[in-house]
Amino acid sequence: MANPLTPDVLVDPVELTRALVDVESVSLNEKALADHVEEVLRQTSHLSVERLGNTVMARTDLGRDQRVILAGHLDTVPLNNNFPSTVVDDLIYGCGTSDMKSGVALALHLAATLPDPRYDLTYLFYEAEEIDSRFNGLRLAAESRPEWLMADFAVLLEPTYGVVEAGCQGTLRAIVRTTGRRAHTARAWRGVNAIHAAGEVLRRLSDYRPRTVTIDGCTYREGLNAVRIQGGVAGNVVPDEAVVEVNMRFAPDRTEKQALEHVLEVFDGFEVELTDSAPGALPGLSAAPAREFLTAVGAEPAAKLGWTDVARFAALGIPALNYGPGDPLLAHAPDEHVEIGKIRDGAATLHRWLAD
Ligand SMILES: [Zn+2]
Repeated sequence: MANPLTPDVLVDPVELTRALVDVESVSLNEKALADHVEEVLRQTSHLSVERLGNTVMARTDLGRDQRVILAGHLDTVPLNNNFPSTVVDDLIYGCGTSDMKSGVALALHLAATLPDPRYDLTYLFYEAEEIDSRFNGLRLAAESRPEWLMADFAVLLEPTYGVVEAGCQGTLRAIVRTTGRRAHTARAWRGVNAIHAAGEVLRRLSDYRPRTVTIDGCTYREGLNAVRIQGGVAGNVVPDEAVVEVNMRFAPDRTEKQALEHVLEVFDGFEVELTDSAPGALPGLSAAPAREFLTAVGAEPAAKLGWTDVARFAALGIPALNYGPGDPLLAHAPDEHVEIGKIRDGAATLHRWLAD
């Protein structure tokens, strides 16, 4: 297939958004899109380009004092009768318009049109963000091409509706188990009911008062919630086990270990088993390129409440934030769309920040 990312398209981030959306790239099917992106990047003379799987890296080497990463994932969630794109008034509809091909379009537009940015730039267009993290192109690059991720600051162009969302909360999942002794319900006094014992677990959850923490002007709201509950053997048996799965979202001033200690404290006296956790990321807004970026945007940053790949940069000691034209509330929705005005604003902001 001929490359739809023609020079005419690359100069216009709105047209470029549509062209990117119209190359289907559901997770694990990013090859065609990655091929097109790689090809246009290789046609520029100011970028050196490398590829790992369906992740494409392009960078300037201008000898600037500082290096900034612009990163975006190429994949989308599965199509939902929303392919290819359509335009209605000021809106582009289609799978990936918000999350996050409009953001990818901003980075690719800059890569193609800005030969001498004021920082050295590394562009990362990566695969498989929307699925299990073992496929995540940014994670794979961090492991086998760590030099790709060396920078002073990173912007992830995930949907934020044009707002700067800094840092992100960590997440932890654990199982709280209560045990008892089975008995026939006709002789219930011979048993110990594990589901009744889980009542105390639920009481502690409903009494729980989560913290609100402000860091660098960003306010993070923690949460501790039961997300699943299981127990019971049969309609006439006193159950001997009940399991409450809990999910804690924690502010980035706690480490994963501290978050786990906190959960163990909340459920003191119960058996708690950690099943999954991922660290948060501090907002890191004091780095010089970050401050200049905030000036270019001209608005106060907000806290990112979900977990995003900014945490992967933070784990490497690179301050990172989310900023993109898409609307996070529309991500993964069948009526996903992006406002054309937000794409234009985003392109102008990045240009103000990065053009010399
Ligand atoms: Zn995304």
